[in-house]
Amino acid sequence: MNNLKICVMIMAGSLLAMSCKSYKKSTTLAKGEFILAIHGGAGTILKKNMTDSMEHAYKTVLGQALQVGYEKIKQGGSSLEAVESVIHIMEDSPLFNAGKGAVFTHDGRNELDASIMDGKTLAAGAVAGVSTIKNPISAAKAVMEKSEHVMMVGRGAEQFAKQAGLEIVDPSYFWTEARWESLQKIKKEDSTKTQLDHDKKQVSRLGVTNKDAKFGTVGCVALDGYGNLAAGTSTGGMTNKKFGRVGDSPIIGAGTYANNETCAVSCTGWGEFYIRHVAAYKVSALMEYKGEDVVHASQEVMDGIGKMGGNGGMIVLDKNGHVAMPFNTAGMYRGTVTKNGKITVEIYK
Ligand code: ASP
Repeated sequence: MNNLKICVMIMAGSLLAMSCKSYKKSTTLAKGEFILAIHGGAGTILKKNMTDSMEHAYKTVLGQALQVGYEKIKQGGSSLEAVESVIHIMEDSPLFNAGKGAVFTHDGRNELDASIMDGKTLAAGAVAGVSTIKNPISAAKAVMEKSEHVMMVGRGAEQFAKQAGLEIVDPSYFWTEARWESLQKIKKEDSTKTQLDHDKKQVSRLGVTNKDAKFGTVGCVALDGYGNLAAGTSTGGMTNKKFGRVGDSPIIGAGTYANNETCAVSCTGWGEFYIRHVAAYKVSALMEYKGEDVVHASQEVMDGIGKMGGNGGMIVLDKNGHVAMPFNTAGMYRGTVTKNGKITVEIYK
């Protein structure tokens, strides 16, 4: 064997060793302690704009949701069941932009989106643009479990949900004064903006007229006692959205992703950016192919979104119980629960 060949072999060997080492580094982290994480949306959430009673109200619902998820998993429930019941609590609260508290479209309607994914089988379900399904996350789960499809939209999704026995409500169920006022405010601000302002913010092109027009999308990631991950996200989308706009939340790989080999992810923020970055899947891919850990992978994706002008956050739980919750906004409603039942809820940076 000549010297050149030996040299090439040594180099290849050390490269292989280096890549194994970096992969190992992230997969041999000591077992984490988390079994569930939630978010209730990211945005310009500042302490100075929040009363004590509002803060208390948000923390109470987040705490209730985490408690419900913890009990589900402790009693032997699956991560999918935990995700569904946790998201129900937040969908039923008018505080969050999902279910009852969904924001309004430009036309004064509520069009809701949701998705769920099973990390064990990679099965997934989603609904988009629905106006009569009380809990869209359950409709997403029904699409996954009771149909051969992954995504259903509008009237078809509503018919399917009815057939699946889910609770159907009159569209007026989703009307809340706070969200109605937000729509009026944004429309007013919009009418005073010049075309130049629109162009600068790249928003007219996207059909969304205010990057702060979203707050309170909800999401949950869970790891059950069988080692299975699941993720779910539910939203009303962005206030003043037009033309049947659908964001990242119901798109598997963009707003939601789960894979037992890596992690479970739920995103919140300016959806167009999350779709273009395939954000949720990208976190998983960085872990799988680059050997990154949950903190670095999620931060890398958030940095990419931020660089392009997008804002928001995400929650990520890996297969070993490590959690990361990066965001580039002033705040993100968020919380975690450990396998010992320790609940932590936070709002600001
Ligand atoms: N990502 C959601 C959307 O773009 C909004 C949000 O998370 O607040 O529809």
